[in-house]
Amino acid sequence: MAPTIGRDGFTKIWLPPAWVDKSSWVDAKSGTSGGGEGYYWHDFDKNSNYGSEPQLKQAVNALSNAGVQAVYDVVPNHMNDKFPGTLVRFPRGLKLWRDDCATPSSCDEGDAFMSGSADLNTSNAEVSSRLMQEFRNLRDNYGAKGLRFDFVRGYAPERVNLWMKDFGDQAFCVGELWKSPGEFPASDWRNKASWQDILKDWSDRSRCAVFDFALKERLQNGSLAEWRHGLNGNPDPAWRQIAVTFVDNHDTGYSPGQHGGQHHWPVPEDKRNIAYAYILLSPGIPTVYWPDMYDWGRGDLIRMLIKLRKDAGIRADSPIRFQSHYSGLVATINGSRQRLLIALDADLSMIPEGFTKALFADAERIRAWQTRSAPEDTTTTLHCDNANPGNGQAVYAVGSPVELGAWDPAHAIALKPTAPKRWSGAVVWPTQQAIKWKCVIRSLSNVNEVYWQKDPDNSLTTSAGTEAVGSF
Ligand code: CA
Repeated sequence: MAPTIGRDGFTKIWLPPAWVDKSSWVDAKSGTSGGGEGYYWHDFDKNSNYGSEPQLKQAVNALSNAGVQAVYDVVPNHMNDKFPGTLVRFPRGLKLWRDDCATPSSCDEGDAFMSGSADLNTSNAEVSSRLMQEFRNLRDNYGAKGLRFDFVRGYAPERVNLWMKDFGDQAFCVGELWKSPGEFPASDWRNKASWQDILKDWSDRSRCAVFDFALKERLQNGSLAEWRHGLNGNPDPAWRQIAVTFVDNHDTGYSPGQHGGQHHWPVPEDKRNIAYAYILLSPGIPTVYWPDMYDWGRGDLIRMLIKLRKDAGIRADSPIRFQSHYSGLVATINGSRQRLLIALDADLSMIPEGFTKALFADAERIRAWQTRSAPEDTTTTLHCDNANPGNGQAVYAVGSPVELGAWDPAHAIALKPTAPKRWSGAVVWPTQQAIKWKCVIRSLSNVNEVYWQKDPDNSLTTSAGTEAVGSF
């Protein structure tokens, strides 16, 4: 399928661990079973349940020819100690394992996997350098262009940085840090921090990208408006660019195999399409879960979203502005070639000026528009003078662009009193746009009860001045 994968627009593929794994488990209570997927490997032998070593090389070569880079999943935290390896072997009793020490934390740089009995002591020089050699081997002999680090809560981010300096400092790497603030001890600053803070801290120390579990948590528990709190929606581009966004993976989602896979934390079916629309049209490094693309019939939608992303030139650090004066999720994203406007389950009813329709899907729960060009953003402060709102009223600005509600006073933006009879607010929008707008006084309890500034409309061209004044 390599040519198909390349044609569909994918640039990288996350391969499962390449190392042999003979583990198996059965949970009689839930009637589920598994094992052998590579997450409980016992040797660096690449003849695995997925295929033979020559087949692995052939697959990676075919992907490379299709313009798709192989990112290998690697599992340094733990291994299966029940089978003797021939290519790598770590004897017990030499502080190569977490359990070799009376205080496990002195023989491990992080959390234990399950009981911890299979955890490697990654701070041990022999363990660390043997893994480093194997990562280089994956690079030199198996076409690895990047690494996906499994269960990084189990070992130090600085260790990952050390390995990647050897593998190639500029190569792609991403860590799976699935650990909520509440799982850190009360004495640890991360116990009171946000998911985003925890992920950024790990990335700063490992120098790798990180799966956006901040967004995943909001996809699961937040409203659409709260999806903006993913790492990929952060106002700082340095935060957005390290966010590897996803809807589900083999741990969180259902799988096509026996027992429906693990599905520890799946996005509900009715939100999956809009979740894909969001991650594929917003900043971050989006990933698509294989069965969503090739098993469960979401491929056509995902293919169109990928094309729209590429046409617009959306990058990991592209600016995104959330237009929170609409319901659902409305945002503008500045690509390098086009500006996109997305409306997900949103009450944006008018076609905003300057935009043309790009993609409507999922019974219009997904709507996207594009512009012909991608101007830089600029900030303008709007003032409304002689404003004298009564009790239960406030002052707003409404106007032609999407940032000002596309002339719908129900989606006007709120201003704040800044001087006697003057209300003000800042708006971020593209430069060199001709804008018409007005001041309105609106009831706080009824958005349809509106008092308009008299004609004519106020006019301005963005960036010509940094302030504009309307008056009642
Ligand atoms: Ca560990």
